[in-house]
Amino acid sequence: MIFTPLLNLGIKVLNLFAGTKSFSVLNYHRVMPNADLSSEQALTPELFEQQLVWLKRHFKVLPLPEAFALAQAKQLPRNAVVITIDDGFYDCFAYVYPLLKKHQLTATFFISTAGLEQGYLWENQISYAICHAPQDLMRLQLQQNTFLIGTTVQRRASIAAITELTKYQTLQQRQLMINDILAQCHCPAHLHQFLTREQVNIMHQNGMTIGAHTVHHPILALETLATAQQEISDSKLLLEQITHSPIEFFAYPNGKYQQDFTDDHVAIVRDLGFKAAFSTEWGVAQPEIDCVYKLKRFTPWDRSPGKFCLRLAINALAERYHFKFFKSRVRQHVS
Ligand SMILES: [Zn+2]
Repeated sequence: MIFTPLLNLGIKVLNLFAGTKSFSVLNYHRVMPNADLSSEQALTPELFEQQLVWLKRHFKVLPLPEAFALAQAKQLPRNAVVITIDDGFYDCFAYVYPLLKKHQLTATFFISTAGLEQGYLWENQISYAICHAPQDLMRLQLQQNTFLIGTTVQRRASIAAITELTKYQTLQQRQLMINDILAQCHCPAHLHQFLTREQVNIMHQNGMTIGAHTVHHPILALETLATAQQEISDSKLLLEQITHSPIEFFAYPNGKYQQDFTDDHVAIVRDLGFKAAFSTEWGVAQPEIDCVYKLKRFTPWDRSPGKFCLRLAINALAERYHFKFFKSRVRQHVS
């Protein structure tokens, strides 16, 4: 798609009004050529690369530690943007990292460390089991619910519904439910969908920032504070062992303040010595104004360059000038 000169000019004008006290933090998850049944929201490598090109053209892409330090020193450039990728799936190394290197950009990878040990996270088990269930298996029974899996469309819908149903369970209850699904699907044990320790180390050695994202990706608010503390500190510790460097940034799993994490978890993160932490609330990171342990992010979903850049620019402006109308327009399509 061709970027029209008018649109180009519009973004430049909007950027002139952007402040120097905040930066946008983009929040990606999956980048895959052939999105499987579980990855409706995944970007293709082609679209991700296009977005990198647009970002380089219209914004100032910075490593997170640099953007955070510049914000604290009140020396942020206008239109500063930071790229983050959550969870740590294999595509981080297969597609995201090579494209970042190609365009001489860096990003922060927030990693749930159980994936490094097991080769997968809980949601991979659900999608893998259902994708690979016997063709003649028509339905799954989970608690009082029946999920149809007779066709590809039904399997896709059931993966989404079961993932949503199991997400808001404690770690213990979630695993019981997953075991039940695995048994019904006769799922083979082998599954590898995650980064390896070596890959994390290579990315770190080559300028990528590694951040913590708990061990098992729980909804922290559903766990005891002792479990939450252990989830956060254990992931930090393992990543520090792998990278031989301090892990300074954290992202809350699922990331909605008061729903997925509370001020108790903010205190844990602060006491563990992190410099800053990120939610999934939409907005820009304003370390000078907001609590540095609840910084906001922006989820890119637009398929066209114009909308993508305009939305990003408007998002920054809406936050700066408190334009409620713009805020709702910018975020209206994201559930
Ligand atoms: Zn996550």
